[in-house]
Amino acid sequence: MQADSLITADYVLTMDRNLTVVQKGAIAVKDKKIIAVGPADELMRTFSSLQTIGGDGKVAFPGLVNTHTHAAMVYFRGLADDLPLKVWLEEHIWPAEGRWLSPEFVHDAVELACLEMLKGGITSYADMYFFSDSGARATKKIGMRAVIGAGIVDFPTVTGKNADDYLANAERLIAAWKGDDLITPSIADHSAYACSPETLKKSRECAEKHGVPLQIHISETAWEVGEILSRYHKRPVAHLEALGFLNENLIAAHCVWLEPDEIEMLAERRTGVSHCIESNLKLASGIAPVTSMLKAGVRVTFGTDGAASNNDLNILSEMSTAAKVHKAVSGDPTALNAKQALLMATRWGAEAMGLGRVTGSLEPGKAADIVLADLNQPHLAPLYDVYSHIVYSMHAADVDTVLVNGSMVVDKKKLTTADEAEIVAKASAWGKKIKKADTRF
Ligand SMILES: [Zn+2]
Repeated sequence: MQADSLITADYVLTMDRNLTVVQKGAIAVKDKKIIAVGPADELMRTFSSLQTIGGDGKVAFPGLVNTHTHAAMVYFRGLADDLPLKVWLEEHIWPAEGRWLSPEFVHDAVELACLEMLKGGITSYADMYFFSDSGARATKKIGMRAVIGAGIVDFPTVTGKNADDYLANAERLIAAWKGDDLITPSIADHSAYACSPETLKKSRECAEKHGVPLQIHISETAWEVGEILSRYHKRPVAHLEALGFLNENLIAAHCVWLEPDEIEMLAERRTGVSHCIESNLKLASGIAPVTSMLKAGVRVTFGTDGAASNNDLNILSEMSTAAKVHKAVSGDPTALNAKQALLMATRWGAEAMGLGRVTGSLEPGKAADIVLADLNQPHLAPLYDVYSHIVYSMHAADVDTVLVNGSMVVDKKKLTTADEAEIVAKASAWGKKIKKADTRF
């Protein structure tokens, strides 16, 4: 049988229902899809292939999934650090966005974000931002998979005056991208404090009408919980539940401040939670009750949040940080083990974004979204447990090859779809302009 490519590795971590690991394994890819996974010698006998990728000293696993970010914010990386969320957002980030956001800014910044993510083994991400069409075009050009959300708020910004303007932007984004093989359009309500109940209901209706995912920030800070309580006499999750906003078609970012009954609601509604541990730590927002959520059956996944509050887009380090923090917080060193963390960063992430049938595991019929990482590194030797190494020891720089939808977008640590040096040079040029105009510097 003919395959387009055969990918071989010392270990193939499928992340399927049985968490099958194939030693000396291979993956056969044809027409953008995985057609077989199994022992390398068997697949080499069965398939003749145009190219063979990988080999000794490699581990293959599904492309990592970043379920919450604001990709274009990479251009504000390090612009304002060591501040509380409200001051950081209202006095630094929102004014910078007001001054700089444009279709060109978002396009160029998203190219940089995609470059950073792909080189760290992330093949899919969920985004909430403005000028979403530019973000979608840059993502498609670089060859990454994404759920791109059109940002919805009630106040004026550079892309609209009110909620109706933002919903019209979302309608346009959906019309332009629905059915694309890499980009899934989505509606991204900022939060229950920046969007009125009316706006949230309209967004939900629009998402249902078009069959697209919704995204929102929920209970990121204690301030937010107090604000929603004083406005609506309900905590944020209960408020959203009463509006019919919660379901499995929603990615809820943060979910730091939850009561047990809110955890139950998220589990019952099968709402995917994006846990953004590094952003929450850096902004001192708090630590989400992840072990309680997992126990209740909530589908918890990992998000980096924007690079202005992290400050990188690295799911390998999110897994490592989260796995350690939740051990410390729960006083239980068995909490959030390495296998569980990788599952959350792959198959569960894809499911939370509505892409469970498309990506998230290495199984026949799924898109070939595959990472090959180099195990021949000082910090990865010796090797007893490959899950442990990926979660606790692997660096983004160990990622060697990345396939998205069957295309090799990273080959021997180099992006194949655009000029890396040009993307980084553009970022520096934008940075110089931003710095020059900023009175704080
Ligand atoms: Zn966010």
